[in-house]
Amino acid sequence: MNVLVTGGAGYVGSVVTDGLLRAGHRVLVVDNLQQGHRQAVPESADFVQADIADAGALDAAFGRMPIDAVMHMAGETVVEYSTTDPRRYFANNVVGGLNLLDVMLKHNVRRMVFSSSAAVYGEPLTAPIEEDHPRNPINSYGLTKLMFEQIMGWYGTAYGLRHVSFRYFNAAGATERLGEDHVPETHLIPNVLKAALGGKAVSVFGTDYPTKDGSCVRDYVHVLDIAAAHILALEKLDTIRPGAFNLGNGQGYSVLEVIEVASRVTGVSIPVTRAGRRAGDPAVLVASSGRARSELGWSPQHPGLEDIVASAWRRTSTR
Ligand code: UDP
Repeated sequence: MNVLVTGGAGYVGSVVTDGLLRAGHRVLVVDNLQQGHRQAVPESADFVQADIADAGALDAAFGRMPIDAVMHMAGETVVEYSTTDPRRYFANNVVGGLNLLDVMLKHNVRRMVFSSSAAVYGEPLTAPIEEDHPRNPINSYGLTKLMFEQIMGWYGTAYGLRHVSFRYFNAAGATERLGEDHVPETHLIPNVLKAALGGKAVSVFGTDYPTKDGSCVRDYVHVLDIAAAHILALEKLDTIRPGAFNLGNGQGYSVLEVIEVASRVTGVSIPVTRAGRRAGDPAVLVASSGRARSELGWSPQHPGLEDIVASAWRRTSTR
């Protein structure tokens, strides 16, 4: 299939693009390169530098080849910034997404796989979380993801859009070539590995949460397994029930446990500073991915946290 990937120069987007190409699909990446990196886009993918807010540029991109499906991975992603600058989140994640949907319909493209987030659940009432758990986002990031899921639902009913949303838990890990390169880097594992390389101590944001050791618990899922889910969804988009799928391993690790695993993997005793809570962080997010397993046939190949951290470390330590 010909797949247009928005945000294909970003962390998850570039790994998904690579996976699509390996599976024999043709890929057109559309990315504004605000966070993404041109060199992260595989050479055999087509590339257009454009913002999803720019309807003219999107229209031209869709005119380059007949597009069978869109993977919409562009957007604002940092929970904390969404608490202080919600305008940017609504503009890019909701208005930008609507703009993209308009251009898709104009070009008669009616298949979409969307990068959603565990942030749609807010402070969960249960662990592991299933997809029908109440959605009560506690930050504007999660709300924008939920709004766009709902918009796709209505576009499905009214205009025949086939859609799947993947609610990522914590995407982590790397391939040999592709991994996390955010500026500034806010994510835990890259920051822990930077500390292992001799940078400053890693801050633990919050040590008074109601968890096993007071730090936040998250479910880390390898970016290659996330990519595999996207390829399965693309292949099954015309036949599966539209809607949302959690992507996680069903196993929660606290921030302090992640640091301990990283110390083992790197062989370095990682310096830690205890810091206050970060705005917008729920205490515990752990997925049930039963639906992805049973309906998509998804089976994570790299579920272990040691393997996930080791893959990121191989890439970090050899650059
Ligand atoms: N975190 C931390 N120190 C850091 C970065 C993150 O303690 O330098 C914590 C953060 O507060 C959260 C968890 O690690 O509880 C995962 O954060 P990350 O930003 O990696 O992903 P998020 O859960 O926000 O998507």
